[in-house]
Amino acid sequence: MSDCIFCAIASRDIHGRIVHETEHSLAFLDVNPLAPGHTLVVPKDHYARLDDMPDEISADLFGAVDELVPRVEDAVDADASNVGINNGPAAGQEVEHVHVHIVPRFEDDGGSPIHAVAGDVPDLSDDELDDIEAAISQA
Ligand code: 5GP
Ligand code: ZN
Repeated sequence: MSDCIFCAIASRDIHGRIVHETEHSLAFLDVNPLAPGHTLVVPKDHYARLDDMPDEISADLFGAVDELVPRVEDAVDADASNVGINNGPAAGQEVEHVHVHIVPRFEDDGGSPIHAVAGDVPDLSDDELDDIEAAISQA
């Protein structure tokens, strides 16, 4: 896509600190890192959301993530990492090109677990949970 910053990095039209490449995926350092080693893993082609990616692209992307997590952690001597996707604007996605964040974490770094991303936490009844369970499993 012509005005997409991650497409521009993938096509080498703008500079990115590229750390890994596969047939369908590219990984580069986040320009505003939340931690040293904060890495983004993207499909080379433009897809806005997870669900837009064909299976082959998705498998390649998550294979790259799996390979990169220990490499990123080792490179910055991290104790752990958060791996996550803002999948859609309501979830905080600002660049509408699928990207997986790998954020290295360190003991006592003052950060939060991934549970901190949600808004008001719902108090769901058993009936509501039954409905949700059925809706997801029948989808
Ligand atoms: P989002 O909120 O969409 O999940 O995250 C987008 C991420 O892309 C942010 O962490 C931001 O720092 C990063 N980012 C935005 N523009 C650029 C860029 O031009 N180059 C790189 N390497 N990262 C970028
Ligand atoms: Zn794009």
